[in-house]
Amino acid sequence: MIKIEQLSKRFGDTRVLDGIDLNIEQGEIIVVIGPSGTGKSTLLRCLNFLERPDGGRLTLGSLSLDLASASKSSILEVRRRTAFVFQNYALFANKTALENIAEGLIVVNRWPKAKAHAHAREILERIGMADKADAYPASLSGGQQQRVGIGRAMAAQAEVILFDEPTSSLDPEWVDEVLALMKQLARERQTMLVVTHEMAFARDVADRVVFMEGGRIIEQGPPSVLFTSPQDPRTRDFLRKVLPADDALSPG
Ligand code: ADP
Ligand code: MG
Repeated sequence: MIKIEQLSKRFGDTRVLDGIDLNIEQGEIIVVIGPSGTGKSTLLRCLNFLERPDGGRLTLGSLSLDLASASKSSILEVRRRTAFVFQNYALFANKTALENIAEGLIVVNRWPKAKAHAHAREILERIGMADKADAYPASLSGGQQQRVGIGRAMAAQAEVILFDEPTSSLDPEWVDEVLALMKQLARERQTMLVVTHEMAFARDVADRVVFMEGGRIIEQGPPSVLFTSPQDPRTRDFLRKVLPADDALSPG
C-alpha cells in the first residue's frame, strides 16, 4: 500500500540514500535499524518531504509521484497522509497538550476549532493524558511530551506514522511508557515505520526489521529470522554490537 522505489538523496557530494526500495503493507510495523549516519533519519524525512529527495517514486494508495519533481499540492497531500514523530517531540511550547494535538487538524485539515478540540480530547484519552489537556509542554515529563507528540501523529489519521528514534532523548525512566503507547498503536494495526535502537521493541512488535548501512537496505526480514540468522556480514557485525551479550533476544 506504500511503495518506495529507488529513493535517492545526496547532501553535496555525499550520497546519503542510494536507491532505497521498500514496500509497506497496510497495518505493517516496520523497524529500521543500522549504524548512526547511515541515512535512517533522511529516509523518514524524505518520505515526509522534510528533505527533498533527488530521485525515486513514492506510491501511497492511489497517489503515485516522482519524488524529485513532486508538485506543491502533491507534497501537501503526502504530508497529510504521513505523520512524523520526532526524537525531540517538537511541540509548540506556547500551546497546551490539547492545542498541540489539535493544531494540525485546524491548520492542515482545516477543521473548525471545536471539532479539532473534541477530537484532540479523544486522543488525550487514548494516550492516557486526559487530565493534562491544559498543561504546557514545560510542565510535562519527557515521556508525557513524547506521548503528546505521538498523540499529534495519531490525530492526523495518517496512513503511516514515521517514528525517528522516539525514545532516544528520553531519560530512561520515561522510555517504557512511550514504548507502551507505540505497542498499543501496533496492536491497533496502525501502519508504522520506526527507526529505533530498542531491540526488544523490534523483536516483540515488528513484523519486519530492515537493516540499513551506507544509505542502502542491506537485509530485511521478520525479527525472529533477522536477529537469529542474519545473512550479511554487515548485519551480523551490527547485531553483535547492539544485541545484549546474553541470548535475551533469541526465541525460546
Ligand atoms: P542516521 O539517522 O542513520 O544516523 P542521517 O540520515 O541523520 O543518519 O544522516 C545520514 C548522513 O547524512 C550523515 O552522514 C549526515 O551527516 C548527513 N546529513 C544528514 N542531514 C544532513 C544535512 N541537512 N546536510 C548535510 N548532511 C546531512
Ligand atoms: Mg537519525
